[in-house]
Amino acid sequence: MNQKLKYFVYSQNSLNTFKSCPLKFKYKYIDNINWKFDNIESRDYYEGLKSGSEFHLLCERYFKNIPIGENISEEFQLWMIKIKDTIKIDSSKIYLPEYEARIKIKNNYLTAKYDLVIIDKDSIEIWDWKTESQKTSYKNIESRMQTIVYMYLAKEVIQKIYNMDIPIENISMKYFRLKVDDKPITVKYSNEKYLRSKSFIENNIENISNLDFDSHIQKNKNHCKFCEFNKLCNNQNINYDMISEMEEEDD
Ligand code: SF4
Repeated sequence: MNQKLKYFVYSQNSLNTFKSCPLKFKYKYIDNINWKFDNIESRDYYEGLKSGSEFHLLCERYFKNIPIGENISEEFQLWMIKIKDTIKIDSSKIYLPEYEARIKIKNNYLTAKYDLVIIDKDSIEIWDWKTESQKTSYKNIESRMQTIVYMYLAKEVIQKIYNMDIPIENISMKYFRLKVDDKPITVKYSNEKYLRSKSFIENNIENISNLDFDSHIQKNKNHCKFCEFNKLCNNQNINYDMISEMEEEDD
C-alpha cells in the first residue's frame, strides 16, 4: 500500500478526481495543492460555489428547525418554497440534514456527506440540492460517482445504524435541481446496482491505494480543459465555465 494513502478517507470527489485524471488526484490529495486562481474570470465561479454553500446552510437550518433568518435573496426564497412544497415535514419521520456516513474498507475509509436523509419506517430517501443551471440526462445522474457512493453508504451504513431491514428498492436518491426543475429526479436502488457498486468501489480503492504515485503517473489529456491545474500542467488558461459544467456532471 502507498504509505501516503494509509488511512486516507475516500469520497465521491476523490474517486471522481482519480477517474478524471490520476495526476489530478496526486496534485489534490497527495501533494495537497490547492489551486485557486484569483482573477476576474474565476470570480463568478467562486461566487457560485459560495452561494451554493450558503443555500445548503439555509436548508440545514430549516430541517434542524432553526430559524433561517430574514435577509434571504429572492432566488433563495423561491428555492425554499419549492423544497417546502415538495417535502412536507412529517413528525413520524427522521430528518438528518448534513449527515455524514463512513465505512472502513480494508485500511481506508469511504465517506459521504448528505444534504438530507429522510428515514421512514420502511424507506430511506437521500436528498441532494443542486444550485447550478446545467441540465443532465437521467442516465448521467444514475451513473455518476455521487449516486454510486451515496446509495452504497445508505445501504451499508445508514440502514444498519437505524437497525432497519427494508427492501433495497426502498432506498432512493433524489436530486433537486432548484434552478431548472420544480420536482426532484429520483434514482431507485436495486440489488444489482448495489453489488455492482460494491465491487466498483472496493476495486477502485484497492487500485488507487496500491499505486506508486512517485513514479510515472498517468495523465488524462482529454480532461485538461475541465481541470483547475491546466495552467500548471499545460500553461493554458483555465476556463471556469468548463470547470463548473464538469462539476455539475460529476458532483
Ligand atoms: S491539467 Fe490535465 S494532465 Fe494536468 S492534472 Fe489536469 S487533467 Fe491531469
